[in-house]
Amino acid sequence: EVLLYTLTLNPAIDRLLYLNEKLERRKSNRITEVSYDIGGKGTHASYVMSKLGVKNLALGFAGSQNIDKFKQILSEKNMEHDFTIIDGRTTRECYIMIEPEQVSAGSIMLTEKGFHVEEADIKRLFDRIKARVKAEDMVLIAGSLPTNFTIDNLRQLLRILKEIGCFIACDLSGEAIKLAVKMKVDFIKPNEFELKQLKASHESLFDTVKRLNQDIDYVVTSLGEKGSYCGYDRKIYRVIPPKVKEVNDTGAGDCFVGAFLAGLANQLSIEEIVKLASGCAASKVMNKDSSTFDVKTAMELKQQVKITQL
Ligand code: ATP
Ligand code: MG
Ligand code: MG
Repeated sequence: EVLLYTLTLNPAIDRLLYLNEKLERRKSNRITEVSYDIGGKGTHASYVMSKLGVKNLALGFAGSQNIDKFKQILSEKNMEHDFTIIDGRTTRECYIMIEPEQVSAGSIMLTEKGFHVEEADIKRLFDRIKARVKAEDMVLIAGSLPTNFTIDNLRQLLRILKEIGCFIACDLSGEAIKLAVKMKVDFIKPNEFELKQLKASHESLFDTVKRLNQDIDYVVTSLGEKGSYCGYDRKIYRVIPPKVKEVNDTGAGDCFVGAFLAGLANQLSIEEIVKLASGCAASKVMNKDSSTFDVKTAMELKQQVKITQL
Protein backbone atom coordinates (compact mmCIF):
# COMPACT_ATOMS: atom_id res chain seq x y z
CA GLU A 1 0.00 0.00 0.00
CA VAL A 2 1.27 3.48 -0.97
CA LEU A 3 1.68 5.81 1.95
CA LEU A 4 1.73 9.56 1.54
CA TYR A 5 3.96 11.68 3.73
CA THR A 6 3.98 15.44 4.02
CA LEU A 7 6.98 17.23 5.37
CA THR A 8 6.46 20.65 6.97
CA LEU A 9 9.83 21.87 8.16
CA ASN A 10 8.65 25.24 9.46
CA PRO A 11 5.05 24.78 10.61
CA ALA A 12 2.97 27.40 12.37
CA ILE A 13 0.11 27.60 14.77
CA ASP A 14 -2.19 29.91 12.86
CA ARG A 15 -4.52 31.97 15.00
CA LEU A 16 -7.42 33.10 12.88
CA LEU A 17 -8.94 36.34 14.07
CA TYR A 18 -12.35 37.06 12.61
CA LEU A 19 -13.24 40.75 12.60
CA ASN A 20 -16.75 42.17 12.37
CA GLU A 21 -15.64 45.17 10.30
CA LYS A 22 -12.85 46.17 7.96
CA LEU A 23 -9.53 46.51 9.81
CA GLU A 24 -8.81 50.13 10.62
CA ARG A 25 -5.98 52.05 12.26
CA ARG A 26 -6.55 54.19 15.36
CA LYS A 27 -9.58 52.17 16.26
CA SER A 28 -10.34 49.25 18.50
CA ASN A 29 -10.91 46.44 15.99
CA ARG A 30 -13.25 43.93 17.55
CA ILE A 31 -12.56 40.23 17.18
CA THR A 32 -15.78 38.25 16.92
CA GLU A 33 -14.32 34.77 16.76
CA VAL A 34 -10.98 32.99 17.10
CA SER A 35 -10.06 29.65 15.60
CA TYR A 36 -6.84 27.71 15.05
CA ASP A 37 -5.14 25.95 12.20
CA ILE A 38 -1.75 24.37 11.60
CA GLY A 39 -0.02 26.34 8.86
CA GLY A 40 3.17 25.75 6.97
CA LYS A 41 1.75 24.19 3.77
CA GLY A 42 2.57 20.49 4.14
CA THR A 43 -0.01 20.25 6.90
CA HIS A 44 -2.64 21.84 4.63
CA ALA A 45 -1.94 19.18 2.01
CA SER A 46 -2.27 16.46 4.67
CA TYR A 47 -5.60 17.90 5.69
CA VAL A 48 -6.90 17.60 2.12
CA MET A 49 -5.62 14.03 1.76
CA SER A 50 -7.27 13.04 5.04
CA LYS A 51 -10.57 14.62 4.00
CA LEU A 52 -10.42 12.73 0.71
CA GLY A 53 -9.89 9.52 2.67
CA VAL A 54 -6.29 8.97 1.56
CA LYS A 55 -4.00 7.60 4.23
CA ASN A 56 -1.14 9.95 5.03
CA LEU A 57 1.21 11.03 7.76
CA ALA A 58 2.31 14.59 8.51
CA LEU A 59 5.98 14.87 9.40
CA GLY A 60 8.27 17.80 10.16
CA PHE A 61 9.63 19.78 13.07
CA ALA A 62 7.62 21.15 16.00
CA GLY A 63 8.72 23.03 19.12
CA SER A 64 8.27 21.41 22.54
CA GLN A 65 7.08 24.62 24.25
CA ASN A 66 3.65 24.73 22.63
CA ILE A 67 3.42 21.11 21.48
CA ASP A 68 0.14 20.42 23.30
CA LYS A 69 -1.69 23.12 21.39
CA PHE A 70 -0.03 21.95 18.17
CA LYS A 71 -1.13 18.35 18.63
CA GLN A 72 -4.62 19.37 19.73
CA ILE A 73 -5.21 21.25 16.49
CA LEU A 74 -3.94 18.33 14.41
CA SER A 75 -6.16 15.85 16.19
CA GLU A 76 -9.21 18.12 15.93
CA LYS A 77 -8.62 18.02 12.17
CA ASN A 78 -8.28 14.22 12.25
CA MET A 79 -4.75 14.34 10.94
CA GLU A 80 -2.21 11.63 11.63
CA HIS A 81 1.20 13.01 12.48
CA ASP A 82 4.65 12.19 13.79
CA PHE A 83 6.54 15.44 14.18
CA THR A 84 10.14 15.59 15.34
CA ILE A 85 9.99 17.64 18.51
CA ILE A 86 12.68 20.22 19.18
CA ASP A 87 13.34 20.60 22.86
CA GLY A 88 13.01 24.10 24.33
CA ARG A 89 11.76 25.70 21.11
CA THR A 90 8.39 27.19 20.26
CA THR A 91 6.52 26.52 17.02
CA ARG A 92 5.92 29.94 15.47
CA GLU A 93 2.53 31.47 16.00
CA CYS A 94 1.01 33.42 13.17
CA TYR A 95 -1.96 35.77 13.11
CA ILE A 96 -4.42 35.76 10.27
CA MET A 97 -6.98 38.52 10.27
CA ILE A 98 -10.14 37.80 8.39
CA GLU A 99 -12.51 40.65 7.62
CA PRO A 100 -16.17 40.19 6.71
CA GLU A 101 -16.66 38.86 3.19
CA GLN A 102 -18.24 42.04 1.82
CA VAL A 103 -15.24 44.25 2.62
CA SER A 104 -12.41 41.76 2.44
CA ALA A 105 -9.80 41.54 -0.28
CA GLY A 106 -8.09 38.48 1.19
CA SER A 107 -6.76 37.78 4.66
CA ILE A 108 -4.05 39.79 6.41
CA MET A 109 -1.23 37.61 7.65
CA LEU A 110 1.36 38.34 10.32
CA THR A 111 3.89 35.56 10.35
CA GLU A 112 6.83 34.81 12.62
CA LYS A 113 10.11 33.51 11.20
CA GLY A 114 10.08 30.32 13.22
CA PHE A 115 12.57 28.37 15.30
CA HIS A 116 16.19 27.47 14.80
CA VAL A 117 16.95 23.80 14.32
CA GLU A 118 20.22 22.22 15.40
CA GLU A 119 22.16 19.76 13.27
CA ALA A 120 21.18 17.07 15.78
CA ASP A 121 17.46 17.85 15.22
CA ILE A 122 17.94 17.65 11.47
CA LYS A 123 19.66 14.30 11.87
CA ARG A 124 16.78 12.99 14.02
CA LEU A 125 14.26 13.97 11.38
CA PHE A 126 16.32 12.45 8.58
CA ASP A 127 16.73 9.21 10.55
CA ARG A 128 12.98 9.07 11.09
CA ILE A 129 12.41 9.48 7.37
CA LYS A 130 14.94 6.75 6.57
CA ALA A 131 13.23 4.41 9.03
CA ARG A 132 9.71 5.04 7.75
CA VAL A 133 9.60 5.87 4.07
CA LYS A 134 9.63 3.03 1.53
CA ALA A 135 10.33 3.05 -2.21
CA GLU A 136 6.63 2.82 -3.13
CA ASP A 137 5.69 5.80 -0.92
CA MET A 138 5.24 9.46 -1.84
CA VAL A 139 6.72 12.41 0.03
CA LEU A 140 5.68 16.05 -0.29
CA ILE A 141 8.08 18.73 0.95
CA ALA A 142 6.15 21.97 1.24
CA GLY A 143 6.55 25.45 2.64
CA SER A 144 9.34 27.60 3.96
CA LEU A 145 12.49 26.25 5.57
CA PRO A 146 13.59 27.06 9.13
CA THR A 147 16.02 30.01 8.94
CA ASN A 148 19.13 27.92 9.51
CA PHE A 149 18.00 24.89 7.51
CA THR A 150 20.30 25.46 4.55
CA ILE A 151 20.04 24.60 0.89
CA ASP A 152 22.73 22.01 1.66
CA ASN A 153 20.42 20.46 4.26
CA LEU A 154 17.67 20.35 1.65
CA ARG A 155 20.10 18.70 -0.77
CA GLN A 156 20.87 16.05 1.89
CA LEU A 157 17.16 15.47 2.39
CA LEU A 158 16.50 15.10 -1.33
CA ARG A 159 19.45 12.70 -1.61
CA ILE A 160 18.02 10.54 1.18
CA LEU A 161 14.65 10.41 -0.59
CA LYS A 162 16.32 9.68 -3.93
CA GLU A 163 18.22 6.84 -2.31
CA ILE A 164 14.99 5.41 -0.88
CA GLY A 165 13.54 5.71 -4.36
CA CYS A 166 10.17 7.18 -3.35
CA PHE A 167 8.10 9.70 -5.33
CA ILE A 168 9.26 13.23 -4.40
CA ALA A 169 6.87 16.18 -4.67
CA CYS A 170 8.00 19.72 -3.85
CA ASP A 171 5.97 22.85 -3.23
CA LEU A 172 8.84 25.21 -2.54
CA SER A 173 10.05 28.63 -3.64
CA GLY A 174 13.25 30.57 -4.29
CA GLU A 175 16.53 28.70 -4.12
CA ALA A 176 14.72 25.65 -2.74
CA ILE A 177 12.56 25.14 -5.84
CA LYS A 178 15.61 25.72 -8.06
CA LEU A 179 17.37 22.89 -6.22
CA ALA A 180 14.33 20.63 -6.50
CA VAL A 181 14.41 21.17 -10.27
CA LYS A 182 18.15 20.55 -10.45
CA MET A 183 17.75 17.34 -8.49
CA LYS A 184 14.96 16.18 -10.78
CA VAL A 185 12.21 15.54 -8.29
CA ASP A 186 8.97 13.97 -9.53
CA PHE A 187 6.46 16.79 -9.01
CA ILE A 188 6.58 20.58 -8.69
CA LYS A 189 3.79 23.17 -8.59
CA PRO A 190 5.20 26.67 -8.93
CA ASN A 191 2.66 29.53 -8.84
CA GLU A 192 3.10 32.66 -10.96
CA PHE A 193 5.76 34.13 -8.66
CA GLU A 194 7.67 30.91 -8.15
CA LEU A 195 7.68 30.29 -11.88
CA LYS A 196 9.58 33.55 -12.46
CA GLN A 197 12.46 31.94 -10.60
CA LEU A 198 12.51 29.01 -13.03
CA LYS A 199 11.64 30.69 -16.30
CA ALA A 200 14.13 32.22 -18.74
CA SER A 201 13.08 35.80 -19.57
CA HIS A 202 12.28 35.16 -23.24
CA GLU A 203 10.62 31.80 -22.61
CA SER A 204 6.87 31.26 -22.90
CA LEU A 205 5.01 29.47 -20.13
CA PHE A 206 4.36 26.55 -22.45
CA ASP A 207 8.08 26.24 -23.26
CA THR A 208 9.04 26.44 -19.59
CA VAL A 209 6.67 23.63 -18.64
CA LYS A 210 7.93 21.59 -21.60
CA ARG A 211 11.56 22.12 -20.63
CA LEU A 212 11.02 21.34 -16.94
CA ASN A 213 9.01 18.29 -17.96
CA GLN A 214 12.06 16.68 -19.55
CA ASP A 215 13.42 15.91 -16.08
CA ILE A 216 10.37 16.21 -13.85
CA ASP A 217 7.44 13.86 -14.49
CA TYR A 218 4.70 16.18 -13.23
CA VAL A 219 5.02 19.93 -13.75
CA VAL A 220 2.04 22.04 -12.76
CA THR A 221 2.21 25.82 -12.94
CA SER A 222 -0.74 27.38 -11.20
CA LEU A 223 -2.11 30.77 -12.15
CA GLY A 224 -4.73 31.39 -9.46
CA GLU A 225 -8.19 32.01 -10.91
CA LYS A 226 -6.72 31.56 -14.40
CA GLY A 227 -6.18 27.88 -13.66
CA SER A 228 -3.06 25.92 -14.49
CA TYR A 229 -0.80 24.27 -17.04
CA CYS A 230 -0.06 20.65 -16.31
CA GLY A 231 2.76 18.82 -18.03
CA TYR A 232 2.86 15.04 -17.90
CA ASP A 233 3.99 12.25 -20.20
CA ARG A 234 5.17 14.64 -22.94
CA LYS A 235 1.75 16.28 -23.07
CA ILE A 236 0.79 19.69 -21.76
CA TYR A 237 -2.74 20.37 -20.58
CA ARG A 238 -4.38 23.76 -20.17
CA VAL A 239 -6.73 23.56 -17.21
CA ILE A 240 -9.55 26.08 -16.77
CA PRO A 241 -11.10 26.01 -13.29
CA PRO A 242 -14.78 26.53 -12.55
CA LYS A 243 -15.94 30.08 -11.90
CA VAL A 244 -16.55 30.57 -8.21
CA LYS A 245 -16.88 33.48 -5.84
CA GLU A 246 -13.37 33.95 -4.46
CA VAL A 247 -13.38 34.84 -0.78
CA ASN A 248 -9.76 34.00 0.12
CA ASP A 249 -7.24 32.45 -2.24
CA THR A 250 -4.58 31.74 0.40
CA GLY A 251 -3.98 28.00 0.53
CA ALA A 252 -5.51 27.29 -2.89
CA GLY A 253 -2.18 25.90 -4.05
CA ASP A 254 -1.74 23.75 -0.94
CA CYS A 255 -5.22 22.33 -1.44
CA PHE A 256 -4.50 21.70 -5.14
CA VAL A 257 -1.26 19.86 -4.30
CA GLY A 258 -2.84 17.74 -1.55
CA ALA A 259 -5.68 16.65 -3.82
CA PHE A 260 -3.34 16.06 -6.77
CA LEU A 261 -1.15 13.70 -4.75
CA ALA A 262 -4.22 11.99 -3.28
CA GLY A 263 -5.40 11.35 -6.85
CA LEU A 264 -1.99 10.00 -7.83
CA ALA A 265 -1.95 7.68 -4.82
CA ASN A 266 -5.37 6.42 -5.89
CA GLN A 267 -4.01 5.84 -9.40
CA LEU A 268 -6.53 8.07 -11.15
CA SER A 269 -5.91 9.17 -14.74
CA ILE A 270 -4.11 12.48 -15.23
CA GLU A 271 -7.36 14.13 -16.40
CA GLU A 272 -9.20 12.94 -13.29
CA ILE A 273 -6.36 14.05 -11.04
CA VAL A 274 -6.29 17.54 -12.50
CA LYS A 275 -10.07 17.82 -12.23
CA LEU A 276 -10.06 16.66 -8.63
CA ALA A 277 -7.27 19.08 -7.66
CA SER A 278 -8.92 22.03 -9.44
CA GLY A 279 -12.33 21.20 -7.93
CA CYS A 280 -10.97 21.02 -4.40
CA ALA A 281 -8.93 24.24 -4.81
CA ALA A 282 -11.96 26.08 -6.22
CA SER A 283 -13.99 25.00 -3.21
CA LYS A 284 -11.17 26.19 -0.94
CA VAL A 285 -11.15 29.74 -2.33
CA MET A 286 -14.85 30.07 -1.48
CA ASN A 287 -13.90 29.73 2.19
CA LYS A 288 -12.51 32.39 4.51
CA ASP A 289 -9.59 30.51 6.03
CA SER A 290 -6.51 28.90 4.46
CA SER A 291 -7.53 25.25 4.46
CA THR A 292 -11.29 24.66 4.62
CA PHE A 293 -12.95 23.11 1.58
CA ASP A 294 -16.07 21.04 1.12
CA VAL A 295 -15.73 17.59 -0.45
CA LYS A 296 -19.27 17.55 -1.85
CA THR A 297 -18.90 21.02 -3.43
CA ALA A 298 -15.48 20.00 -4.75
CA MET A 299 -16.98 16.93 -6.46
CA GLU A 300 -19.58 19.14 -8.17
CA LEU A 301 -17.02 21.76 -9.20
CA LYS A 302 -14.75 19.02 -10.51
CA GLN A 303 -17.29 18.32 -13.28
CA GLN A 304 -16.98 21.92 -14.49
CA VAL A 305 -13.20 21.87 -14.96
CA LYS A 306 -12.20 22.23 -18.62
CA ILE A 307 -9.08 20.52 -19.91
CA THR A 308 -7.55 20.91 -23.34
CA GLN A 309 -4.35 19.33 -24.55
CA LEU A 310 -2.06 21.95 -26.09
P1 ATP B 1 -0.99 29.07 -1.93
O1 ATP B 1 0.51 28.96 -1.95
O2 ATP B 1 -1.52 30.25 -1.20
O3 ATP B 1 -1.62 27.81 -1.43
P2 ATP B 1 -0.67 29.32 -4.82
O4 ATP B 1 -0.35 30.75 -5.10
O5 ATP B 1 0.44 28.36 -4.77
O6 ATP B 1 -1.51 29.23 -3.45
P3 ATP B 1 -2.67 29.53 -6.89
O7 ATP B 1 -2.02 29.59 -8.22
O8 ATP B 1 -3.11 30.83 -6.31
O9 ATP B 1 -1.72 28.75 -5.88
O10 ATP B 1 -3.95 28.57 -6.96
C1 ATP B 1 -3.82 27.17 -7.15
C2 ATP B 1 -5.02 26.65 -7.92
O11 ATP B 1 -6.21 26.91 -7.18
C3 ATP B 1 -5.25 27.27 -9.29
O12 ATP B 1 -4.46 26.66 -10.29
C4 ATP B 1 -6.74 27.03 -9.48
O13 ATP B 1 -6.97 25.71 -9.95
C5 ATP B 1 -7.28 27.17 -8.07
N1 ATP B 1 -7.78 28.53 -7.85
C6 ATP B 1 -7.14 29.57 -7.29
N2 ATP B 1 -7.90 30.70 -7.28
C7 ATP B 1 -9.07 30.34 -7.87
C8 ATP B 1 -10.31 31.03 -8.18
N3 ATP B 1 -10.48 32.33 -7.87
N4 ATP B 1 -11.28 30.33 -8.76
C9 ATP B 1 -11.16 29.02 -9.07
N5 ATP B 1 -10.02 28.31 -8.82
C10 ATP B 1 -9.00 28.96 -8.23
MG1 MG C 1 -1.67 32.48 -5.38
MG1 MG D 1 1.72 27.91 -3.19
